[in-house]
Amino acid sequence: MDQYKILNNGVKMPVLGLGVYKSGEDTKQAVLDALAAGYRHIDTATLYKNEALVGEAIRESGIPREEIFITTKLWNDDMRSGKQMEAFEQSLKLLGTDYVDLYLIHWPVSSALESSWKVLEQIYKEGRARAIGVSNCHMEHLMRVMAVATVVPAVNQVECHPYLSQKSLRTFCNNVSITMEAWSPLGRGNVLSDPVIGQIAKKHGKTPAQVVLRWELQENWIVIPKSVHKERIVENSQIFDFELDKEDMAKIDSLNQDRHFGTSPDDFENKQW
Ligand code: NAD
Repeated sequence: MDQYKILNNGVKMPVLGLGVYKSGEDTKQAVLDALAAGYRHIDTATLYKNEALVGEAIRESGIPREEIFITTKLWNDDMRSGKQMEAFEQSLKLLGTDYVDLYLIHWPVSSALESSWKVLEQIYKEGRARAIGVSNCHMEHLMRVMAVATVVPAVNQVECHPYLSQKSLRTFCNNVSITMEAWSPLGRGNVLSDPVIGQIAKKHGKTPAQVVLRWELQENWIVIPKSVHKERIVENSQIFDFELDKEDMAKIDSLNQDRHFGTSPDDFENKQW
């Protein structure tokens, strides 16, 4: 299996990244451990308040900047207040870089969705983001963005794991060449004790986390599992040396319950974020 996907603008995006939501003070070491384990993609956001630690780790690793794919995201408040460009510039400053590889609208804030997309397009055209995309967008949000877009979003990052397989959204995105990226690809740990996954893990001599991530890769998702523990960071990267067969894939597919462990895009505006 290829370790990269080619986005709709030709940019190569590693299919495995490290998620750093709630990694706190451990972020720097987690990123260093991930880079040492071969990860070349880090997923952060303004919300996570750790862009500076991500930037420090990348510089300290000695790996050339252009070999590492950095994603960060525009936060809701900065959309509502019309400070999208300032927020982007602050992210660059904190990361200590003059471009990001992927800049995402974190949530489809209704009052500022189209206007924010226009700012992302400007950033893209200036070459300060190699690709731009969205997160937590359902079909209706994507239709709104695409109605005003001159650049089609490259990526839609949404919650996905065996209990939330997102089939219809994925079909829609495939049809309009938007690459799907799975957040909470381990269901925040909640899917790992499922007996079906345990059985398949045993069959392949792999761990439940590796089976779940491999299922997502074979379903064409980009995955960004989070951990701050070196052994788990390494474990989560060892997913390219085995393959799930049709029967395994069908068994995991059948676990879908359309169940969110995080916030659903249908409720987030009620949360007053
Ligand atoms: P996840 O599904 O990656 O689960 C992480 C948790 O799973 C860890 O805290 C740990 O408890 C457990 N875990 C990790 N590796 C394990 C292993 N090998 N064995 C057993 N347990 C293990 O959940 P997440 O952090 O919510 O999502 C991953 C990343 O996705 C985030 O860090 C963030 O970068 C991104 N994210 C984006 C959004 C968004 O709105 N765009 C929302 C949530 C998360």
